[in-house]
Amino acid sequence: MSVVAERPVAASEIAVENPATGEVVGTIPVMSAQEVAEAAKRARAAQPAWAAIGVKARGEVFKRAQQWLFQNEDRMVDCIRSETGKTTEDANLEFAIAVQAFSFWAKNAPKYLADEKVRASSPLILGRSIRVRYAPVGLVGVIGPWNYPLVNAFGDCVPALMAGNSVILKPSEVTPLTGLLAADMMKAAGLPDDVFQVVTGAGETGSALVDEVDFVMFTGSTRTGKKVMQRAAESLTPVSLELGGKDPMIVLKDADLERAANGAVFYSMNNGGQVCISVERVYVEEPVYDEFVSKVVGKVGQLRQGSGAVGTTEVGAVTFTPQVDIIKGHVDDAVSKGAKALTGGEAGEGPGQFFKPTVLVDVDHSMSCMTEETFGPTLPIMKVKDADEAVKMANDSIYGLQSSIWTKDIGKGQELAERMESGACCINDAMLNYGAFGAPMGGWKESGVGSRHGAGGIRKYTKTQTIMANRFAMKRDLFMFPYSSKQAERLGKMLKMIYGRGA
Ligand code: NDP
Repeated sequence: MSVVAERPVAASEIAVENPATGEVVGTIPVMSAQEVAEAAKRARAAQPAWAAIGVKARGEVFKRAQQWLFQNEDRMVDCIRSETGKTTEDANLEFAIAVQAFSFWAKNAPKYLADEKVRASSPLILGRSIRVRYAPVGLVGVIGPWNYPLVNAFGDCVPALMAGNSVILKPSEVTPLTGLLAADMMKAAGLPDDVFQVVTGAGETGSALVDEVDFVMFTGSTRTGKKVMQRAAESLTPVSLELGGKDPMIVLKDADLERAANGAVFYSMNNGGQVCISVERVYVEEPVYDEFVSKVVGKVGQLRQGSGAVGTTEVGAVTFTPQVDIIKGHVDDAVSKGAKALTGGEAGEGPGQFFKPTVLVDVDHSMSCMTEETFGPTLPIMKVKDADEAVKMANDSIYGLQSSIWTKDIGKGQELAERMESGACCINDAMLNYGAFGAPMGGWKESGVGSRHGAGGIRKYTKTQTIMANRFAMKRDLFMFPYSSKQAERLGKMLKMIYGRGA
């Protein structure tokens, strides 16, 4: 790591720790509201020229940033690992998603932002040409979480920049170093000064940023998301919120149980279970419940924990210190109400912070492990009578981010998917729709407002402007002054002729 703290941390600074080792890997300044306002002023001054170069030229900057990423792959992956405590594979996956996202936006932004022609839908505007254009909002504030500092914090800056905005990123105080490295990357790729800036600090810095921008892209917990929306409402600043989840997985009795078990273990434990779209709870049809649980327990028992070199560990550290207590709290609550932990159930050994991969059975919805976001390597599995009960239990949640259904009957899977109250549903997969950059990814219910990816994922960073032109303008249109009975009669006849047939 480039920034290693060798001196005491001042009150105006935050120490960044490697959660896998406890070592301090850097310090960042806590930026005040005044400093955020100054950054916003610089960003606004830089934005018009960035917008003026056009979307294709902006895409070239991201193509160069992508080359920089490849040339600096080890540096970026090491930086992500140093502040998150992820396994190398989890950090490599984050790197891979970022690389793909740069290509996607460079290629598709011109299409999504192209002017649209609209046909005249009323006889009163015949002959006019109508064009809708997508103008940048100006300055976008991106506030990100600690679980994917490259993909979920800097990742949302990419379409915002491609749309011609200046962007200020406020990364989590827990993982700010990756965002700072991304700023180096964008500078090296030729992004003009001040178009992208990083402001560091804790919640107050994020809050100050909300006051300064024209649009807020927030990813984080539902609790903080509500605060951000409230704050933004004071200045009527639009927001997009990507919040927490409690994603259900439904295993039907005809599922390929081996694949379903592999999926349950991977999608609940990769990235240490710290993924907004992790499998957080499983409902299994009664006839296959025992076999499924036994397969899952066997596989979880094989998992190796740590943040080692490639191929040596599967489940990394718990990135955010208080999260260890939250995970333990959910497990203890379940066990105190009659659940059994078939594996793990407790924190791992130090020096870093880990939680042992945990499978819980005999769980129900009176337990927090089935209703609140755990965000750790836990997998509670519940037996259900049939598919209807599974859907009912899955929808019994304040969250609605994603869900998955595992069955060999794709038709039935499709039908059940439409009954799931979630922004996305995968059949025989989970999480993978995140990689479908052309499709919206966003939560229902308290999992979010708006979405990322697809056309809507970049147009949200724009203001639409409708431009109507009348090339063949007459001296006077039929509906203009002076009003007369003849004019009214003509207009009435025209309306009847066009719309009144069959009346
Ligand atoms: P938090 O809500 O705690 O924090 C998110 C960001 O908001 C951080 O940068 C934080 O700063 C900042 N912040 C805190 N208070 C305020 C405030 N009052 N105003 C403005 N900003 C503020 O989330 P976590 O970092 O703990 O991230 C985990 C959560 O993120 C989980 O719930 C997870 O499900 C969700 N998430 C959702 C995703 C999605 O796409 N739906 C993707 C990834 C994660 P600081 O950290 O410095 O306090």
